[in-house]
Amino acid sequence: MAIAYGMLSCHIQDDKVYDPQPHKDEKYRHRNRRSTIEPLLQIYDALFSHYGDLHWWPGENPYEIMVGAILTQNTAWTNVEKAIARLAEDLTPQRIAAMPVETLEERIRPAGFFRQKARYLKAMTAWYARYNYDAEAVRRVPLDALRPEILSVKGIGNETADSILLYAFDLPSFVVNAYTMRHFARYPLKTGRTYAAVQAYCEARLPESAEIYNHFHALIVINGKEHCKKRPICAGCPLEGGCEKRIEE
Ligand code: SF4
Repeated sequence: MAIAYGMLSCHIQDDKVYDPQPHKDEKYRHRNRRSTIEPLLQIYDALFSHYGDLHWWPGENPYEIMVGAILTQNTAWTNVEKAIARLAEDLTPQRIAAMPVETLEERIRPAGFFRQKARYLKAMTAWYARYNYDAEAVRRVPLDALRPEILSVKGIGNETADSILLYAFDLPSFVVNAYTMRHFARYPLKTGRTYAAVQAYCEARLPESAEIYNHFHALIVINGKEHCKKRPICAGCPLEGGCEKRIEE
């Protein structure tokens, strides 16, 4: 049975329930009472209750999402939108493959690092050509084989690869970024500090669902932008009740 992505904690079976030792400090008593639920699920539920369905990721089709995943490296999404608008009707894998790299550089200039990114787009498009630009053919490859294949494409690191797998191809690969690391370090969760450790921690505790990973990542990013910034704004943060690093104003 598919698991709805609403309040997750009520769907998780006993073998995933977290049971921490009671905290001796009275000031944390209220936190212990609600922490019989796995903390990762508490975070998801609190964020989802607050923000609801954020309808990520903007993109008309898998290829456009892949292009967005590369263009968004080290820049704001508003710059990606400008670059995508300049590609206009040429935003298809066939046209990008045929376009001279110098032309592509000019078209995507608003996204920054345009020389590098033009080459990354060319490399990603060449990889996609191996599947005849057919998203269904990509989805038929087992995730364990597909992820390293995408990671071997020039310019694609962990976050970009997982964003492509999750948002372009609807495959359950949890995306980790700086916002994820910051939230989990502050809450805190004992995830480990590397990309792979955080991803493994989350995937071991969540249902294997692209829909849930999609929502969770979106929720963390929006909360990172609104509250859990470098200098956090804890007042009104949906995680305020359980976060040990919250700052009392
Ligand atoms: S309470 Fe503060 S530190 Fe904790 S997650 Fe929210 S904004 Fe970040």
